[in-house]
Amino acid sequence: MSNKGEVRRGLMLVISSPSGAGKTTLARKLMGEFEDVALSVSVTTREARPGETDGQDYHFRSHDQFTRMIAERGFLEWAKVFDHYYGTPRADTEEKLANGKDVLFDVDWQGADALHDQVPNDCVSVFVLPPSIEALEQRLSARPGSTPEIVARRMADAKAEIRHWRRYDYCIINDDLEEAYGQLRRILLVERTKRLRQHNLEDHVRALLGEG
Ligand code: ADP
Ligand code: 5GP
Repeated sequence: MSNKGEVRRGLMLVISSPSGAGKTTLARKLMGEFEDVALSVSVTTREARPGETDGQDYHFRSHDQFTRMIAERGFLEWAKVFDHYYGTPRADTEEKLANGKDVLFDVDWQGADALHDQVPNDCVSVFVLPPSIEALEQRLSARPGSTPEIVARRMADAKAEIRHWRRYDYCIINDDLEEAYGQLRRILLVERTKRLRQHNLEDHVRALLGEG
């Protein structure tokens, strides 16, 4: 908050990776540490995996419901990823940002591109890479609900996702989890320090100069 009670406009931290590289794990750790970071819960037409909760991991919706949300301009962005539709609800994001929360987005490269285009000044993007293709396959196989077919499909799509790495502001290789997490939290902290994001600076400097 500034001297005038102005609420800081939060930043949009976009995390992408090939499925299985660990972005959900990293995002959860960030939310666990920082109370003022809120996750954007996407809407999807895919089935919930074992252990996933509606409203918490995703809003699981039918194809018809998803199409209606597109028509009502309910999404900030949406995309078809693998065989399903995924979208970022617009109203929810706006409310969190206006309340000074940083919002974390777990979206694919199409979502990252769309968010960057719409709000270039608020958006910071991070790409998470696996240490090796073998490690990626192991992580996908170990995930609850995975089948050999799902793993094969996601491995085939992983390289297509990885090819978009240059579009991101930051890249993290998720080999050792704690090290990768340390990099992610440093990105958040340094981006918060950017002059344009510190809305109380004008007043602070004026007071320092005796011009307040
Ligand atoms: P994504 O969200 O990118 O699809 P997840 O976060 O679901 O990936 O991670 C996939 C699997 O890999 C999970 O079982 C997770 O516990 C595991 N995992 C994540 N990061 C690491 C790491 N650094 N080392 C070993 N396993 C990891
Ligand atoms: P999963 O099915 O493994 O949860 O997610 C599959 C892919 O969809 C991941 O790359 C994830 O980042 C992406 N994704 C999840 N939600 C959204 C969203 O709202 N928009 C876009 N563009 N991608 C999303």
